[in-house]
Amino acid sequence: AVINFGSINIDHVYSVEHFVRPGETIASSNYQQLLGGKGANQSIALALAGADVKHVGSIHESDASFKQTLIKHGVDCRYVRCHDVPSGHAIIQVTPGGENAIVLFGGANLTLTSDTVQKSLLDIGDMDWVLTQNETSCIDEVLKQAKEKGLRVAFNPAPMSESVKSLPLDCVDLLIVNETEAAALTGAEALDEIIKVFQQQWAHAEVLITLGKDGVLMITEQGIEKVSAFTVEAVDTTAAGDTFIGYFLSAYSKHTAAKDALVRGCAASAIAVTRKGAAQSIPTEEEVDRFLAK
Ligand code: ADP
Repeated sequence: AVINFGSINIDHVYSVEHFVRPGETIASSNYQQLLGGKGANQSIALALAGADVKHVGSIHESDASFKQTLIKHGVDCRYVRCHDVPSGHAIIQVTPGGENAIVLFGGANLTLTSDTVQKSLLDIGDMDWVLTQNETSCIDEVLKQAKEKGLRVAFNPAPMSESVKSLPLDCVDLLIVNETEAAALTGAEALDEIIKVFQQQWAHAEVLITLGKDGVLMITEQGIEKVSAFTVEAVDTTAAGDTFIGYFLSAYSKHTAAKDALVRGCAASAIAVTRKGAAQSIPTEEEVDRFLAK
């Protein structure tokens, strides 16, 4: 079972002819409000993959319907608090060419306190993995307290920021990064250099690097496991990483061999990139099984 300390965002998506310029006002031809945030996406992917997942997070009380969406997907939300701080949200402009420009507001995601971390880790019982990203407050406490409790700690430092380097990273058992995050964290550029730095400085942890359409590689004590991506027609890569993480960790937390868990993650994220959107592009376990049986 996995407990995810993660963001819940409301994505406000506006279709525009071009990104709004300084001083300009433009009309949007379409508007959608969607559940998003790396935390929520990863919890949904975990739940769809069949994991027992509890989400710890916060949203504004007027957005309780988004909590229902998480519950509907199978996420245990008893530690999702509704209160009077505005929900985390993203204002997303999308152009006809599919490019986006995003303003992100952390809001309620930044109300996670050391006390909440402690209480939820005490109450929550039979968990073996803790997962967190870089979109909530108190990540240092999540990492430290989870480690102290003897849980296995998975950390996805996304979106990457300078502050990540000063976190108690020695508490991390499994680091999951994409290539950009890997480069920022190691200070290296070429992939073989990045791998070397991880092998030298992250010997305490397993490190998983997702490589977009090139698949994924995982650095473990036994060596390097590489899995290719599936060849598909990608239309929207939003939440590819989140889908990968949910499906990989669901399998891995149930003691599936690393290689097989990587393949499941790649299959699920390959399906996700053929569909538009974030959370709504994450496939069900049946869809992944059918895809792999082909
Ligand atoms: P992020 O979305 O965090 O930047 P990546 O771009 O590395 O992460 O994608 C995560 C995973 O999604 C990859 O490891 C791969 O398995 C899958 N994926 C991403 N892009 C494609 C693609 N164009 N075709 C097939 N699979 C893809």
